[in-house]
Amino acid sequence: MTRLNSAGRVSLAVRNNARLELVVAGCVVRNGKVLLVWHKKHKEWLPPGGHLEQNESPNDAVLREVLEETGLHVAFTGRHHAPIKYIRNQLVTPFFADTHNVGDHDHCCFYYLMRLRTGKQSVTLNLSEVEEFHWFSKSDLTREGIPEDIRHICGLALAVQHSTDGWPR
Ligand SMILES: [Zn+2]
Repeated sequence: MTRLNSAGRVSLAVRNNARLELVVAGCVVRNGKVLLVWHKKHKEWLPPGGHLEQNESPNDAVLREVLEETGLHVAFTGRHHAPIKYIRNQLVTPFFADTHNVGDHDHCCFYYLMRLRTGKQSVTLNLSEVEEFHWFSKSDLTREGIPEDIRHICGLALAVQHSTDGWPR
């Protein structure tokens, strides 16, 4: 995911003519810890994610981005499947959404709560984009290099996971 670091963040009030693009981010939680990757270019800890490809749904995009960046096969936490007439494909509801500026454009970002599809998986980083990973506990989220908004959103992901053991039902 491309973004400015928190020091370089530009106010939306100033840049309200910026192009707005939909992006997705996967907050993958395992054993009460959330996975962040260290982005080489931006020098920040961020959840895996990125822009949608043409004709791609947000759900497919976040599954692809997590796999591409970390090699992990993940699933949505608490996805529900009740078929409803006229709905071709029910999309998973993000647990958090925002807009933020990344320099020459804005992101409308959907954050998803996710889990590992199977337990026995190891992270294989895509080293062209990211160079480290760490599973962060709530107290680890105070570590330097995590933007303030990501700190908050990942803390929320851990709290939601903990309080409901999956969301929404
Ligand atoms: Zn972007």
